[in-house]
Amino acid sequence: MTREDRFLTTGPEATEKAAADIARTLSPGDILMLEGDLAAGKTTFVRGLVRGLGGSPGEVSSPTFVLVQSYECRTASWLHHVDCYRLEDNIDELRAVGLEDLLNDDAAITAIEWPRTSVHRLIAGIARPIIISITRNSDDSRTIEVQRP
Ligand code: ADP
Ligand code: MG
Repeated sequence: MTREDRFLTTGPEATEKAAADIARTLSPGDILMLEGDLAAGKTTFVRGLVRGLGGSPGEVSSPTFVLVQSYECRTASWLHHVDCYRLEDNIDELRAVGLEDLLNDDAAITAIEWPRTSVHRLIAGIARPIIISITRNSDDSRTIEVQRP
């Protein structure tokens, strides 16, 4: 059964607030897939997650060049923030950069920007992820859909 929630946000602060509210419903070991085009608000969403988990949202930036950033959070020990934008869609490459180890970290929450087919396949053997889809509307607001397994 899938549980779905939907939020409409009219600015980055509202996206952060929605993410912070969602963060409070998460448990250590949860994996979030962040789907959405460039500038949809995926990194903004992660900033809200860190805020909701009692970490320092000011530390959150786009990890496009470093691939993984981990933020210490009061309520989930760590939030791992992964950006697969620059990775090949290839399971061996994902393993080589250590993604499997992060996904198997039961004490942490992992949020993944740009999950490709290979990421979905790798995760399928480990856990059932929460899918967050962010779309930009014509008036620049964002629709955020949350699909829980
Ligand atoms: P992504 O990580 O998906 O590429 P970012 O979160 O880095 O996107 O950037 C989204 C940009 O859009 C930021 O400059 C942010 O301030 C802006 N923005 C405007 N409205 C919103 C909104 N409702 N939600 C999220 N971001 C918004
Ligand atoms: Mg980003």
